[in-house]
Amino acid sequence: TTRQAAPDRPPVALTIAGSDSGGGAGIQADLKTMEACGAFGTSAVTSVTAQNTRGVESSHRLPTSEIAAQIEAVLDDFDVRAAKTGMLATSDVIDLVGEYTGHLPALVVDPVMVAASGDRLLEPDAEDAYEDLVAAATLVTPNADEAAVLTGVEPEDEADCRAAGERLVEMGADAALVKGGHVPGEAVVDVLVTEETVETFRHPRVDTDATHGSGCTLSSAITAHLARGADLTEAVSSGIDLLARGVRYPLDVGEGPGSVHHMV
Ligand code: PLP
Repeated sequence: TTRQAAPDRPPVALTIAGSDSGGGAGIQADLKTMEACGAFGTSAVTSVTAQNTRGVESSHRLPTSEIAAQIEAVLDDFDVRAAKTGMLATSDVIDLVGEYTGHLPALVVDPVMVAASGDRLLEPDAEDAYEDLVAAATLVTPNADEAAVLTGVEPEDEADCRAAGERLVEMGADAALVKGGHVPGEAVVDVLVTEETVETFRHPRVDTDATHGSGCTLSSAITAHLARGADLTEAVSSGIDLLARGVRYPLDVGEGPGSVHHMV
């Protein structure tokens, strides 16, 4: 068999995350977003959630060995240029992903803890386990609540977001994007902190409850752009722009609040 010439091969991205049967968040949102952003999405499913637009009915964790087998099957065959993590659910899974960070040229850690519906997606005793994964991350993308858990700094304004981001960089992350969606204010201000720089990204706040999948969509878009070779600022800026469009065109599919659009 002849392999495609390298220039025609799409850049490959990997998502390690939970399945959302409702299609608005999790692996389903990740793959749609990666496709929309020009990367070929591969996946390792960590948990299978039974959920719809109203909330999570149940959640079933896959054995750690099966999660490892998926990651290895992908890494064994594909030239993965960037990976992201979403719902990891337990400290065992967080530790498992930590074993592969050396094989991932770029790693975006979206420290998913609670769904927009309020359902927990991470066991409370697993919060501390994120320390090593944060230290290995190219980028960590917490919302204000997740940043508070990870750093002890509770962001209530832009300055706090910056302080939490600086703390995450001190903890070893190459960069932190502390998201402003849960921070009060007329505009949403996301703050990107690296060792040398602080950048802010500002968008008008959209009055909507269809925010399901927003974190997944943003982190997947950034991962896809990194896989395509964008630098960090370009990748983050493009991801934020995609999400800003996605919240304006929510997917109204179900009785509960819809999700953000993944492909506009
Ligand atoms: N991963 C899964 C499997 C989920 O079901 C959810 C939310 O319900 C999330 C991640 C987090 O979603 P969001 O992008 O809204 O933070």
